[in-house]
Amino acid sequence: MGWVEDRETLVEKLKSEGYIKSEAVEKAMLNVRRHEFIPEWQKVQAYRDVPLFIGHGQTISAPHMVAMMTENLDLEEDSKVLEIGAGSGYQAAIIAEIVTKGRIHSIERISELVDLAQWNLGRAGYKNVQVTYGEGSKGYEEESPYDRIIVTAGAPRIPSALFEQLKEGGKMLIPVGGRTYQELKLVRNKGNKMLVENLGGCMFVPLVGDDGW
Ligand code: SAM
Repeated sequence: MGWVEDRETLVEKLKSEGYIKSEAVEKAMLNVRRHEFIPEWQKVQAYRDVPLFIGHGQTISAPHMVAMMTENLDLEEDSKVLEIGAGSGYQAAIIAEIVTKGRIHSIERISELVDLAQWNLGRAGYKNVQVTYGEGSKGYEEESPYDRIIVTAGAPRIPSALFEQLKEGGKMLIPVGGRTYQELKLVRNKGNKMLVENLGGCMFVPLVGDDGW
């Protein structure tokens, strides 16, 4: 089978398992060529539902986790989104498929991965994603506030700067817990009050930083 068929098979599996619910996320996951976001030696694994190493001890998340987080972000086409942990750029690409009239700012603390994400996103043709080197537990105040924030690394707590940069009515997804196992939290800003919902267990690499590990 070729990449397209492999991707279609994966998307069908994620739909049948209930991770993909909406047409928007289905289309995004069919459109983004995951094999172009991972190193050569890992490419044969590109359409297995597993996280893969992208170098520097970091990973591209498993497709079911990307689908689940994207569904729960509840994106609009004009959302302004902050992602913490650009990694390969794959999750940002999935978001960019839906946020066609908005903007995505992605922060990454490993400079080689900033380059990798920029290269991958540029080659794939996404013009509304900006990848910036920085310490994401502080957010990215320059462009705040955001409609949506997605943290793709596990934090010991919800960084206060991130909540402060979330618009009223906005939503944030963040894995919170230990260094290897966390609970995925959906955080809402309702009238500047924080409402937190648990979406279940997950395993992310640690969010390293001032308000991280
Ligand atoms: N979203 C990525 C993708 O689609 O490939 C996967 C992200 S990977 C699971 C987690 C990323 O978070 C790593 O690239 C890591 O370097 C980054 N990271 C960890 N702590 C960070 C911090 N404080 N600020 C910014 N990036 C951070």
